[in-house]
Amino acid sequence: MSKITVCARFRPLIARERQERGDSFCIERIDDDAFLLKDEKEGEFKFNFDKVFYQDSEQADVYAFMARPIVHDVLTGINGIIISYGQTGAGKTYSMEGMGVLSTVKSSEGILARTVAELFAHVSSSKEYADYSVKLSMVEIYMEKVRDLLDLSKDNIQIKETKSQGIILHQITEILLTDVEAALRILSTGITNRAVGETQMNLSSSRSHCIYLFSVLHELTGDKRKKCAKLMLVDLAGSEKVEKTGAEGKVLEEAKMINKSLSALGNVVCALTRSSKSKGDGKENHIPYRNSKLTRILQDSLGGNSRTALLCCCSQSPANASETLSTLRFGARAS
Ligand code: ADP
Ligand code: MG
Repeated sequence: MSKITVCARFRPLIARERQERGDSFCIERIDDDAFLLKDEKEGEFKFNFDKVFYQDSEQADVYAFMARPIVHDVLTGINGIIISYGQTGAGKTYSMEGMGVLSTVKSSEGILARTVAELFAHVSSSKEYADYSVKLSMVEIYMEKVRDLLDLSKDNIQIKETKSQGIILHQITEILLTDVEAALRILSTGITNRAVGETQMNLSSSRSHCIYLFSVLHELTGDKRKKCAKLMLVDLAGSEKVEKTGAEGKVLEEAKMINKSLSALGNVVCALTRSSKSKGDGKENHIPYRNSKLTRILQDSLGGNSRTALLCCCSQSPANASETLSTLRFGARAS
């Protein structure tokens, strides 16, 4: 496994933050990969990441730096994962979906639309020597239950491990994508299904993890061996701490589950980072994949022949400094 790419992204202030704290910020830029975070209670911290996307960064910059290299590798048979992490409202979904996958505002297109465009550009330009097929599945994990977003009747998908295919989602809907437009329409259907289910069950998207899974299969002309790679784009549940006092019943249960799965992810990523650093010392690290559905589903693509990028989405308002600090610490452990 190669090193995990870890980036931080700060979205522009929103109206509520402006009202509360005016135009002040809790971060101070040092350069393109480092900044200071100032928390009124905890003090000042310096952070370094592979890249920092400040508020004026474009969606295209984020894609080019952290997603494009992974998408290119997927086309050669290497698994990839791109994760957005952070508190609710920090820009995770905006980074993935932009202003909706069917939006016609090109500049706001998120990682999803850009990924689909790049996959199909490659597929059509290599028709003469390679035969590609791209399939899409979409799932949501809520309270440790996996739901098929392309068929809501499948609301408890099982995760299985097979010898030939590794980790699979049993009987998950897989749709063969024919072109960019069709792919975006299917993504949009899955996203709408997620919202419908949420209203029916009285949920909020910030309480569940969403995984977009692209399976890319290719065969080179004259070569019988097929190569298959998975690309997963992961829009995580909000990482904010739920007030210990006040939260009860369902809210508290949800918070515990989210906490558990995000810390499982943190532990896996941290163990992988450590083992990639200690490469060659002969020690096999134990990677605790089995502690959550999330890490189980990501297992194949997190270790082994794979590449991972983590986008830590943050608010830069002093009102959110302590959540921003905890998001950045999560990222720092992974890098
Ligand atoms: P999350 O998914 O982390 O809960 P969202 O992506 O929904 O947060 O973002 C919250 C709000 O901020 C949305 O209205 C979104 O459009 C806006 N937003 C987030 N990131 C940016 C950005 N980089 N530029 C402009 N608006 C943004
Ligand atoms: Mg969101």
